Amino acid sequence: MNYYVMTLFPELIQNVMNESITGRAIKNNRINLETVNIRDFAGNRYNQVDDYIYGGGSGMLMQPGPVWRAYQSIIKRTGTEKTRVLYMSPQGRTFDQSYAKALSHNENIIFLCGHYEGIDERVIEMINPCEVSIGDFVLTGGELPAVVIMDAVSRLIPGVLGKDDSAVYESFYNGLLEYPQYTRPPVFEGKEVPEVLLSGNHKKIEEWRLKKSIERTEKRRPDLYQSYLKKHSI
Ligand code: SAM
Repeated sequence: MNYYVMTLFPELIQNVMNESITGRAIKNNRINLETVNIRDFAGNRYNQVDDYIYGGGSGMLMQPGPVWRAYQSIIKRTGTEKTRVLYMSPQGRTFDQSYAKALSHNENIIFLCGHYEGIDERVIEMINPCEVSIGDFVLTGGELPAVVIMDAVSRLIPGVLGKDDSAVYESFYNGLLEYPQYTRPPVFEGKEVPEVLLSGNHKKIEEWRLKKSIERTEKRRPDLYQSYLKKHSI
């Protein structure tokens, strides 16, 4: 998987992605990360990339030229066929686990991060990206959403997590939230780990976990629970 991130703040992306599990995946070449600084494509003496908004309104907007040139610099190397382009935007489709799964099959993903009041509409139309939101709130820039998406997608790429089945039992994978989990000590402040988990009986443990997953999903996410019932014709 090759990630290309078009941004005015490349260090924000690099600093987060080079830590922990994604950092290890970059070192092991499971994923590649290239940040492309849109400011490098400003094309003027002052490296200006934003300007006032036509028609009035507060704040500044990213100009189309630098964004277009930065995009061209990537796409001429990757080609369009095996490349998915995502524009981070509060107006886009809401990101979720099934979207992460679908994205994990791409060879290249280009992330376009807006800042200030966003990006001139003309260059969005020219690039024609999929607009993706990470939720119904407004952030200062698309960098954190891009990192969120890269993190969620990367853990689905074979070899990124320690064990390839680590993602299989997690929340959302089978349409349910994950069951409660425990580690040592067996008794903490008088609270005991459920006995079945110490029994060594794998079948019983699986049954207990599924039951807890279902109970938890019904209580916390009735919407997911209803879909689960429908999917299993219950
Ligand atoms: N004026 C824009 C609007 O109302 O739709 C919001 C611009 S926001 C202040 C600046 C940038 O942050 C956006 O261009 C986008 O890249 C990013 N952004 C903000 N909230 C986001 C969200 N929930 N999901 C994805 N990207 C977001």
